[in-house]
Amino acid sequence: MVMGGGIQQRAASPMIRPANLPPPGSPGMPRPFQSPQIQNRPPSGQFASQGQQTAPGSPAINPMGFMSGPPNGQNRSQPPTPRMQHQQQQQHQGPPTSQQLHQQHQQPLHQQQQQPLHQQQHPSQPQPPPQFGQHQQQQQPHPPMGQDLGLMAGPPTPTPQAGAQKSKRLYPAGINAYAEPPAYETAPSSHGFQHPGVPASHQASGMQIQPPAHGSQFFVPGEKQAPAFRQPVPAYQQGLQPLQGQPVQPNINQLAGQMGGMNLGNAGYGGAQGIVPLSTVALMGTAPKIYDLDAPPPPIRLPETASITQSPFANCDPSYKRSTLNAIPATSQLLTKSRLPFGLVITPYRSVKEGDEPVPVVSDSIIARCRRCRTYINPFVKFVEGGQRWKCNMCYTLNEVPSSFDYDSQTQQPVDRWQRKELNHAVVEYIAPTEYMIRPPQPLVYMFVIDVSYPAVQCGMVATAATTILESLDRIPNDEGRTKVGIITVDSSIHFYNLKAASGEPQMMVVSDLEEAFLPQPQDLLCNLSECRPVLEALLNRMSDMFKDTHNVGNALGPALNSAYKLVSPIGGKILCLQASLPNLETGALKMREDPKLLGTAKESTLLQSASSFYKSLAVECSKSQVCVDMFLFGSQYSDVATLSCLPRFTGGSTFFYPAFTAAKSEDALKFAHELAEFLSQRIALEAVMRVRASKGLRMSAFYGNFFVRSTDLLSLPNVPRDQSYSIEVSFDDNLSIPVVCFQTALLHTSSSGERRIRVLTLALPVTTSLSELYASADQVAITTLLACKGVERGMNAKLDDARDALTNKVVDILGVYKTHMTASSSGATPNLQICDNLKLLPLLTLGMLKHVGLRGGSQIPSDLRSYAMHLLSTLPSQCLIPFLHPRFYSLHDMPEHCGTIGDHGIEMPQPMNLSSERLSRSGLFMLEDGQNIFLWIGRDAVPQLCMDLFGVPDYQSIRGGKTTLPTLETDFNQRVNLIVGKAREMRRTSYYSQLYIVKEDGDAALRLWFLSHLIEDRAEPIMSYYQYLGYLKDRVNSGSF
Ligand SMILES: [Zn+2]
Repeated sequence: MVMGGGIQQRAASPMIRPANLPPPGSPGMPRPFQSPQIQNRPPSGQFASQGQQTAPGSPAINPMGFMSGPPNGQNRSQPPTPRMQHQQQQQHQGPPTSQQLHQQHQQPLHQQQQQPLHQQQHPSQPQPPPQFGQHQQQQQPHPPMGQDLGLMAGPPTPTPQAGAQKSKRLYPAGINAYAEPPAYETAPSSHGFQHPGVPASHQASGMQIQPPAHGSQFFVPGEKQAPAFRQPVPAYQQGLQPLQGQPVQPNINQLAGQMGGMNLGNAGYGGAQGIVPLSTVALMGTAPKIYDLDAPPPPIRLPETASITQSPFANCDPSYKRSTLNAIPATSQLLTKSRLPFGLVITPYRSVKEGDEPVPVVSDSIIARCRRCRTYINPFVKFVEGGQRWKCNMCYTLNEVPSSFDYDSQTQQPVDRWQRKELNHAVVEYIAPTEYMIRPPQPLVYMFVIDVSYPAVQCGMVATAATTILESLDRIPNDEGRTKVGIITVDSSIHFYNLKAASGEPQMMVVSDLEEAFLPQPQDLLCNLSECRPVLEALLNRMSDMFKDTHNVGNALGPALNSAYKLVSPIGGKILCLQASLPNLETGALKMREDPKLLGTAKESTLLQSASSFYKSLAVECSKSQVCVDMFLFGSQYSDVATLSCLPRFTGGSTFFYPAFTAAKSEDALKFAHELAEFLSQRIALEAVMRVRASKGLRMSAFYGNFFVRSTDLLSLPNVPRDQSYSIEVSFDDNLSIPVVCFQTALLHTSSSGERRIRVLTLALPVTTSLSELYASADQVAITTLLACKGVERGMNAKLDDARDALTNKVVDILGVYKTHMTASSSGATPNLQICDNLKLLPLLTLGMLKHVGLRGGSQIPSDLRSYAMHLLSTLPSQCLIPFLHPRFYSLHDMPEHCGTIGDHGIEMPQPMNLSSERLSRSGLFMLEDGQNIFLWIGRDAVPQLCMDLFGVPDYQSIRGGKTTLPTLETDFNQRVNLIVGKAREMRRTSYYSQLYIVKEDGDAALRLWFLSHLIEDRAEPIMSYYQYLGYLKDRVNSGSF
């Protein structure tokens, strides 16, 4: 058995990979500690490496097989002209004067470039706002643009890239001037995320909407008082989703609905409100309008009186729960006819960051639930019979209102039921009384199972893990002093540690009999964190020394997990596995099964499925005992992510994967340490079950995410990590004869502080009989999130080809139905492809899925990388999934002056660009980030000043490509880019820490191709460019094949 070949020995695509470059998916980093001694003595025959040494800095993931089209190829052979260089020198003599600053103002490169040919055909390409251009003309009379062009004109090459040549003088201006037109200074609203062509309302507050402060200002039906939110335009009236952190759009109907609903009491549902404008747009011939990726979902147009309190927080924020359809079809026939996917995307335990509104807590133990369907009372029920009873909005049963809703028997004071949080907030948490407990709430339990075999020690994982755990001990939630910790290390034996040793020194007990692994002194192996702290610290301090000379290549993970399970299962808790080698002993042993011949074939899916029933069986046992398993996998070889990620998948856990990890590379150590530390400090939920109820007629029919389905619709989650998402498909049992349907998610859990709690999320949506309204309400982001989950499942269980075909077929169906029923040209061929405005990015996002490492075709993607990507695709919340599919791409060398500075809404980011290599210029600096990695691409003609300012090196040739850390320099540009990189790392809610790569235009080919593979609008063999894909979709639609 030879390992490593699967990852590293891949048939190369000759056109893109020179022979001396790392093969696809190669670990990409020099192997750790490559001393001759180690190289001469591979850990074992089984682990003998035949992998090639790779160039420093080559990527861990290699997207080979991609042709990027001509990435500014036309410009490559063009050296700077002497005149250009002269100008650059001039511009770099001494610091600029303030006058120069203004004179040298430059428009962003992509705006200043001559329009590439393909864009000239697109009249609807976003244009800069008029005042911007106007002001430029006023502020930039000299040198005139034409003169500039004259200076710059190299050999005239009338290519789409011609405009890029001008960037040769842009950088100096960008660096020395950073000037911006005073229009920016006098118009603060245009700071930040100014998207040309976007209505100001979309841009209102950039990406950092502060949620409104709110308190007791809610409207109380039947009372005369003027509620606070009637007063002029508070922030939340800009949209229903003040917490989303997205640009919000004034919702006139909603506002009108709130106003109109005043003092109407409970007049009953009046049907969906307002006309639903269906705005049709043509897709062909225009660049996708990517700024809408941040737009809020289509507004939810509820009847005026749907919510009894009219609270602006009555309906669920999309960051917690969103539906693929914000109007629900009244019949299954209508849903079928529309071909739209129907499902929910739920992130019930999303993190609450600074500026976010915390979830209101109902602390008086009064929990009103429907006696029939067990729905929790919510803002969409009805009070009847003088407020004595409430009518359930799911099953319409009448229920008694608890007397304590109006009168507090303890204080003997009347209370105002309209102030109750559960009647005003869609997202609330109840402190659960004892009847919600089978046993006292469990404490947090962290059982570490750490691989200390030779590969784990040699790559530096053990030392980094020990240090990180040691340094995180104060961050592990331990409010009540009940948190328990234990450590097991494993190679060919299992090592237990007595953390209660009287001597204060950790005591190690070795169990070598793996078949009958027993627990020595079980009462001392899992200890109270506060009590065992000194011993634990001593152990962690010593751990890397303890194993530093090991030659043991055994890994008895299975028996170790069984032991950990025995220790933790009486309480429940978390088992954190840190594994750097493949389990190879006893139960749970795995084999190197990567087979390059299978990649790209129908049998590839077998590599994405679990190879051992042990892990699935153990997962089921863990789920029953409230034990969650998390996997931190480190592989310089094949890691069988597919099999090992089974445990997290069924136990509510998380998987982290560090291919080619070596702690000798500080960036690797930093990423792992950051992610582990964040993970340990998360205030997670424990021993949880989740159920989603819906109004009569609807049923939850399929579930995607990391959990175990305990009964038909009860999801068991031993842990609920922060910011994991769950997608649920919804089906019809019966037609709907009601104007509003409700979806209520209840997550019964134990908080990290040991309280039993129920988090309830209520989402109300109008019912419609109109196909037009259905289309106008479709949420492309939620649809994409659901389709990604379905695609992953199909790819794992059937074939990746089938998954991709299903995705495209779904888009064809939607476009076809839209053309047939929603446009004038219902039949016959049409020259264009049309869809409603709110779905216009669906083809692009689908293309992003087809080209994603988790789903794309070809024989170049190692199954470990694919499995890990699939894990992310099916668990990331929409906020992170969309950039994962459609990365953010910025031009930095010419960014406006305010970008990279701290503005009203935090660090100002540049405007994202379309994902096309047309945007690259040879003298430019660009950044691309997808939430997992950040790439800084630098063109070979980057001026020395840029190299000096950003990297502190004299010229482009001195820049070192690959995985790196950006230096911190005193220059303004370096500081701004560092701020932007930092912002990209923290702007989304996850514990992932993006790795930074410098990509040189003519540097490492594998790294370049990896970078270019993210530019999904380009052609990437064998997958079409965006325009080709639209053409293909159009032909399918025109031929009626949907
Ligand atoms: Zn009910």
